[in-house]
Amino acid sequence: MKVVFHERFREVYARDAAAAPGRLDLAVEELRRHFSFVEPAPAAVGDVARVHTTAHIEAVKRRGLTYEMALLAAGGAIAAAELALAGEKAFGLIRPPGHHASPSSSWGFCWFNNVAVAVEKLRYRGDIRTALIVDIDLHFGDGTAAVFGRVPEVAYYHVSAQSRREFLSELEEFLGTQGSYDLVALSAGFDRHVADWGGTLYTEDYELIGRMVADFAAARASGRLFAVLEGGYDRAALAEAACALLEGME
Ligand SMILES: [Zn+2]
Repeated sequence: MKVVFHERFREVYARDAAAAPGRLDLAVEELRRHFSFVEPAPAAVGDVARVHTTAHIEAVKRRGLTYEMALLAAGGAIAAAELALAGEKAFGLIRPPGHHASPSSSWGFCWFNNVAVAVEKLRYRGDIRTALIVDIDLHFGDGTAAVFGRVPEVAYYHVSAQSRREFLSELEEFLGTQGSYDLVALSAGFDRHVADWGGTLYTEDYELIGRMVADFAAARASGRLFAVLEGGYDRAALAEAACALLEGME
């Protein structure tokens, strides 16, 4: 297990909850105790252009620092996906998040769709043909759904049950219905944590989720699995839950 992180992700690039000062600090501290870190390079504009329109890329570009950070976050997702392809599980501890970024627009603290940019890069290169993206964030990843809505090779599934027990059984049941894929990606939002906005899942639930998804990837996707950070706004919960998720994924 590798954690993909760049010191620049600590920079406050915008005035929103995902860009809040110190948001990732406890997670970095906690994950460094357990896992080794690798540093990503920014995504190339051409990588982002497989998912987003030129007009959207230009609009983000006018935001200066946010654009730089969005390219670096997409690069973090690419690095995590490439590790997964090489047989090493990985977690992109990145920001800004991406799952609310559609081809020509974005909202909800997102600019470029990190997970989509990474999956499409691997697909474009012919490294993979199919992928499953599982989203455990509190919010539906409308951007990811929009990117892959007409792409039968890439499935997107958001776990939407509102209670803890239903959430875990929904995920288990969904995975039980799935065939094989070349890669599994996890949009890992932690805003369902009991200490966060969703108030649903406990820290240990994330370990169970990590194990369920890793077992599925082992059985159905040659063990190729990576996760990227989406939401998660309570710093201590984010640190604990991310660590639990990664322990489950190992
Ligand atoms: Zn969210």
